[in-house]
Amino acid sequence: MSKVIQTTIQCIQCRQPVRASVQGLIDAAQDPQAKIAMLAGRLNVTPCPNCGAPNTILTPLLFHDGSKELLISYVPMELGMSKDAQEKAMGELMRELTTNLPQGAFKAYMLQPRQALTMQGLVEQVLQSDGVTPEMMEAQRNRVRLVETFIQSSPDQLPDLVKQNDDKIDAGFFQTMTLIIQQLAAEGREGAVEQIIEIQNRIVELSTFGKELLEENRLQEEIVAAVASDVNALGQGATREDFRKLAVKYAEDDQRLQALVGLIRPVFDYTFFQDFSTYIAQAPAEERDKLTDVREQLLELTAMIDQQSQIALQEAAGFLRVLLSSPDPDALIAENLPAIDYTFMQVLSANVQEAQRRGDLNASAKLKDLYNRVVSALQANMPPELRFINELLSAPSNDVARDMIAQRASEFGPPLLDAMGAVEDQLAGQGNPALLERFNFVRQQVTQMFG
Ligand SMILES: [Zn+2]
Repeated sequence: MSKVIQTTIQCIQCRQPVRASVQGLIDAAQDPQAKIAMLAGRLNVTPCPNCGAPNTILTPLLFHDGSKELLISYVPMELGMSKDAQEKAMGELMRELTTNLPQGAFKAYMLQPRQALTMQGLVEQVLQSDGVTPEMMEAQRNRVRLVETFIQSSPDQLPDLVKQNDDKIDAGFFQTMTLIIQQLAAEGREGAVEQIIEIQNRIVELSTFGKELLEENRLQEEIVAAVASDVNALGQGATREDFRKLAVKYAEDDQRLQALVGLIRPVFDYTFFQDFSTYIAQAPAEERDKLTDVREQLLELTAMIDQQSQIALQEAAGFLRVLLSSPDPDALIAENLPAIDYTFMQVLSANVQEAQRRGDLNASAKLKDLYNRVVSALQANMPPELRFINELLSAPSNDVARDMIAQRASEFGPPLLDAMGAVEDQLAGQGNPALLERFNFVRQQVTQMFG
């Protein structure tokens, strides 16, 4: 890891003191994150915790990528350093680089670093060494300019602007827009982020490429709904064998298999795959190839989903740690309500249980207190329709749920049906067939009233 110096600066905008970190040496092999930050223009940029303004600290930089024999120095002109001072600063960074090098890794190219005159020049040299050609950079700059044109346009200009540039609105365009959004978010500029997301959504609706995307999404949702109804048709007593038959029915249909694993991941456990192997071994020879393919695909899909949920779990655990150490958890909860999802609640309850099992009264009291705060924040923020749907889902039986709908659904009217759409998306990721079955029952009842 390269040396990172902590320093305190005064915010360029609000003049409050800001704790900032400065890094002069970027070694791509040892510290790939620093290279990414540099290419994204985020290196040595600290958003002010008070007002959000990005504070950039100018400092001499030495970039090294041993795999490409690339060493570039850059001293910002704005620093007004004398030649001696520049050489001294580079000498220090060189020493830092060489002391971290493995024995015998010093090579001739390190004696004469290339020089970049601007930050842009440094970034371009690094990108070129990564195989990004000047033409690709030019294309990317054009994309950025186009995105900026859209951001600066007024809402009523947008339809014409999309029509004029329809052929340029492609996957690369949306990627660029997303990158800009991420950069603004990293700088804490929430207002700009919201505004650009809104523009992005409108461009999706108006452009040819965006319409195709929407159509793809719609088809995907249809497939998920069809698979969910197949799963529900198996009923609550469904066995591993039933699920295997369903998977085999979907053989060679990647999208349905993916939807199936996404909906009911817990079904595909060790025993499921063992039983499947036994079944293949006993199957007629001509069917074995097809069955083996299905089994392989299911294995791949479960691994993929586990990896995704691993990332989500880590994020949730990280947020929980922040909450536990916060002097004002309620404010933090209120600010981060969108991050409080099913995964987070699972992590939180698992932590409560673990603290109880350990007999750690202090931790378990603190966690339970946090749990209650989160639940009441969620409930306070929940639209009344969603609260009602939740009550329906936790009703003791379908009959009770039906009575509740008969008595109270008219309070909410057709918006109740819209809210069910949102709940369905959430349930789809949870792999809980019993809950899905109750949900479908409830929706059927509500649709009869308002559909
Ligand atoms: Zn500030």
